[in-house]
Amino acid sequence: MSLSPSRVFAELNAARPPDQAAPMMGTAVVVGGSVAGLLAARVLSDHADSVVIIDRDDPQVSGARPGVPQGTQLHALLPGGFLQLERLFPGFRDEAVAHGAVEAPPEARRNYLDGRPKVVVPDDADSLAGSRPLLEGLIRQQVLRLPNVKTVTARATGLVFDGTVVTGVRCDVGGVPGVERGDLVVDAMGRSSRLSDWLEQAGWERPVTRRMTVHLNYATALFRRPEVAPASTVVMALHTPTTAVDVAGAAFFAIEDGQWMTMMAGYGNDRPGRTAEDFVRRLREQFPPEFGEVADQEMLGDVQTYHHADSRRRDFHALDRFPAGLVSVGDAVASFNPVYGQGMTAAALHAVCLSTYLRSGPDLRTPARHFLALQKVVVDAAWSLSTSADLALPHVDGPYPRGHRLSSWASRQIIAATVTDVTTARRFNEVVSMREHPRTLARPGVLLGALRANRRAR
Ligand SMILES: Cc1cc2nc3c(=O)[nH]c(=O)nc-3n(C[C@H](O)[C@H](O)[C@H](O)COP(=O)(O)OP(=O)(O)OC[C@H]3O[C@@H](n4cnc5c(N)ncnc54)[C@H](O)[C@@H]3O)c2cc1C
Repeated sequence: MSLSPSRVFAELNAARPPDQAAPMMGTAVVVGGSVAGLLAARVLSDHADSVVIIDRDDPQVSGARPGVPQGTQLHALLPGGFLQLERLFPGFRDEAVAHGAVEAPPEARRNYLDGRPKVVVPDDADSLAGSRPLLEGLIRQQVLRLPNVKTVTARATGLVFDGTVVTGVRCDVGGVPGVERGDLVVDAMGRSSRLSDWLEQAGWERPVTRRMTVHLNYATALFRRPEVAPASTVVMALHTPTTAVDVAGAAFFAIEDGQWMTMMAGYGNDRPGRTAEDFVRRLREQFPPEFGEVADQEMLGDVQTYHHADSRRRDFHALDRFPAGLVSVGDAVASFNPVYGQGMTAAALHAVCLSTYLRSGPDLRTPARHFLALQKVVVDAAWSLSTSADLALPHVDGPYPRGHRLSSWASRQIIAATVTDVTTARRFNEVVSMREHPRTLARPGVLLGALRANRRAR
């Protein structure tokens, strides 16, 4: 099915959940109760009599948990994702703020590039800042309020088939094997999802997995935040590879409980900030003074590190044969270099794809091709943003997509123009926050505008 990516993306971004529930199946089973699984469950609650979320972690446990090892690291919610959360859960912002999330309107966000303020035009959309467990916990709270959604604490171990249709999930519930039956099964098991293995074991083809190796090293630490309402709540600073500093970037966000969450990242063998001393020293010496002021506060707990080897995507859409009654969402399909903050927003857009698909009244006894085609548009968009930026890093050596030289030249022109040209900056912000498709930047008028702005700036 050939779809215009820009149009599909625009429609997904404009879509709203149905006003009234329209059940078309008995039970939907979601494997993985993290952000992607919870958002899928929210959408499924409109179309199923009941929704069962299976996760190996107990949903009552708040805070960092083993099933989401990245949960201790700083998580940015892009304005595109925030917009979707507010649509899926009207009133989300107010409830989040009541639970400690901090509002991050455009005037409270600051960006630096190589030590200098970066974009003259900040993104004009709102967002929120909070720890990853807070954001995930808020979404879970909203989903579990839905009367037809329940959770089961169990480890999923495989699929149950009836011919070419998936009809359930095998589970291990505290050492006891069981089965959760469903008319639609959603894999939301994250980037380590075993779905490809399960398909292969049942005689289906595995999807091709594409990778871009980035070897990113994260370090995150919490500091006490004395100001209740600081002027800047989200501050980010990037270093281009041309600088001599081995820290690719750092950021600090105001989060719940009077804390600053501060992150530092490096690539390859650069592992900045692994000890408290190193973390504090670098914040003071290698970043604008605001970072030093945060570092002057009391550090709360230890520095938490995380190594992210690669971005990866599984091309389910390209399989000739795919079972009916099955879809995959979130990181299980594609996970990206986290510095671009796309994961939760991509998961929200996958949920919107699911909603659009289910509203089209599909026959669940046939493969969900329409869903896969919609989702491919979202995955392609996020993947192209993430990997084209990664390919500009000196240690990343491919794979290069067709037309890479031309597209990277065009990207460089547009990024340079964001510093001086309001129109280009606005368009660029909409793309990186996933409210517009990257192809909108490739329109001749946009590129010409950027070239003119760069000439004026010279
Ligand atoms: C270091 C780092 C920083 C990041 N920063 C950002 C950011 O700034 N902004 C952003 O939007 N995204 C960020 N991300 C990405 C973000 O964490 C994910 O995209 C987001 O959590 C959606 O993931 P998910 O729900 O698909 O999977 P996950 O969050 O990984 O959850 C998978 C779930 O599946 C469960 N599970 C797995 N296997 C089984 C099984 N067999 N049986 C039962 N349950 C199972 C797990 O317990 C878990 O709950 C970052 C990622 C990393 C690694």
